[in-house]
Amino acid sequence: TLFAELGVSKELCDACEKLGFKHPTEIQKESIPWALEGRDIIGLAQTGSGKTAAFALPIIQRLWDNPQAFFACVMAPTRELAYQIAETFEGLGSIIGVRCAVIVGGMDMMSQSIALSKRPHIIVCTPGRLQDHLENTKGFSLRTLKYLVMDEADRLLDLDFGPKIDQILKVAKLQRASLAKPVKVEVATKYSTVKTLLQYYLFFP
Ligand code: AMP
Repeated sequence: TLFAELGVSKELCDACEKLGFKHPTEIQKESIPWALEGRDIIGLAQTGSGKTAAFALPIIQRLWDNPQAFFACVMAPTRELAYQIAETFEGLGSIIGVRCAVIVGGMDMMSQSIALSKRPHIIVCTPGRLQDHLENTKGFSLRTLKYLVMDEADRLLDLDFGPKIDQILKVAKLQRASLAKPVKVEVATKYSTVKTLLQYYLFFP
């Protein structure tokens, strides 16, 4: 299978090739066509399975069609993961100059506020710090958001981020674009002892 057969645009196929992605991985094959159709997706695949590109590619493709600030927000349970996700978006999105802001705890609030004032396309965050900015950074809102991704959602919820995520959804007044049931995409894990990692993608109007 080729990325083009999943509906990925020519330019993004070239970007994949540049990064050495010749063929889509299992989770990419299973989820990208649904994501491009605009369905909500719950994806389960272990780390290293190519799950980041599985959500980054369709988001970048939609962003290309309709370039907008604050287009997508990706929540991650750790800072390290947030930086890795931003790197994937910047690598795959360099051809259209995708701008990411990484909004994580332990970093200076003021420089993050400045990054947000530059109107990035993608916010990659840990939930606590995002909530802090939604409450305290003037002029920042998620009203134009089209995509929300919870990466490693099982860990996000394990780490007691649950109430913060609820608060973010409330403050941001996010509404799902479609009430259709999410598509569940599950890729077999090789080792039963490896915890499967859950992601949840939501699409907004
Ligand atoms: P992830 O599961 O998102 O952490 O990705 C694991 C690694 O696989 C990353 O280093 C990616 O750059 C790489 N990767 C993602 N998709 C592909 C692909 N289709 N072909 C080859 N490598 C990939």
